[in-house]
Formats: sequence, C-alpha cells, structure tokens
Amino acid sequence: MTEGLPQILKALDFASHRHSAQRRKGTRKLPYINHPIQVASLLANEGNETDPVLIIAAILHDVIEDTVGSVEERSILMAEISSVFGEEILALTMEVTDDKTLDKKVRKQLQIEQANHKSERAKKLKIADKITNLRDIIIDPPDWWTNERILEYMNWSEKVVDGLKGVNPELEKLFFETLSEAKNKYSVQS
Ligand code: ZN
Repeated sequence: MTEGLPQILKALDFASHRHSAQRRKGTRKLPYINHPIQVASLLANEGNETDPVLIIAAILHDVIEDTVGSVEERSILMAEISSVFGEEILALTMEVTDDKTLDKKVRKQLQIEQANHKSERAKKLKIADKITNLRDIIIDPPDWWTNERILEYMNWSEKVVDGLKGVNPELEKLFFETLSEAKNKYSVQS
C-alpha cells in the first residue's frame, strides 16, 4: 500500500505529537500512540483494508476525543485536521468521536444506539478499535478495573459491535474470537 503513504506518515506525526503526554490505562503505561497505531495496523494487516482514508482516520481516531479539554480547543483542532487532512478525514474522525460534554453513561448508550447508522468506514474503524481494546484488556488491564468492570466492558462492546456487523467478515470474526478469549480469561461462560 503506497497510495496515501505521505498522508499516512503525516497522520502518524500529527497524532504522536497530540498524544505525546498520554499513556494507556494498562499497568505497563504504554505510550498512548501505540493504540491508534495498533488499530490502523489491524485494519490493514488483519482486516485487509487498504483505503488510505480509513487508515488515516484510524491513526487520528482518538485525537479529538482525548487530547482537547474545551469546546474551543476542540473546534481549533477540528479546523486543523480539516486543513491538513481534508473534510472527508475530519468527518470520519468525528463519526467515531464521542461527545465528551455528555455523561459517560449516555455516551456508552449512544454508541450502542448509533452503531447501526454509522458509515461503512466508521463501522470498520469501530470494530478494530474494540478488538484492540479487548486485546489490551486480555494482556494488561488497568489495575483499578475489577472483574465486574471488565465483564461490563465486554458486554457493552459486544452490544456495540452487534450494530456494526456486515462490513468486514474478517474483522467481525476477529472481534468475536477476541471476545471469547477475554471471556475465557475472566471466566465467563459464553
Ligand atoms: Zn481508540
């Protein structure tokens, strides 16, 4: 995949700067940027997705949700993404960005309700995101997460992915394999 390569590298550069002060939630406190890189790599290498728009949005997918505090900062960042990467990438990034002004419970419920109405690209990206998060939970869960919280996360992500089906059979299969691996590890009967 050489199509889009300069923009893909630009997205990596952009996202690595935006996430540079952040760490993942696991006990290993990996750099945050590992996560969007894993999502993009999973789409390309395991989901066989070669669409540069999708890969670039995957690299940028948490930049708006997780690196700005205020509404004003958010609009500045959105304008920046639009001018550097274009409207299409911004729109896709926004499609997978939760509205942080809403309560966490509401956001989680909205992800379930809106899953089915997302674009095909957004659905693929969201499945890859959920697979990556489950893999992290299997390998290295946040140490303050109780078993109950892990189970809650697994059930919730299954409900979201139910609404995302029909866009990439390989990704779907990977999600459910990873989910049953997680269920085995945290001993739930599937
Ligand atoms: Zn993510």
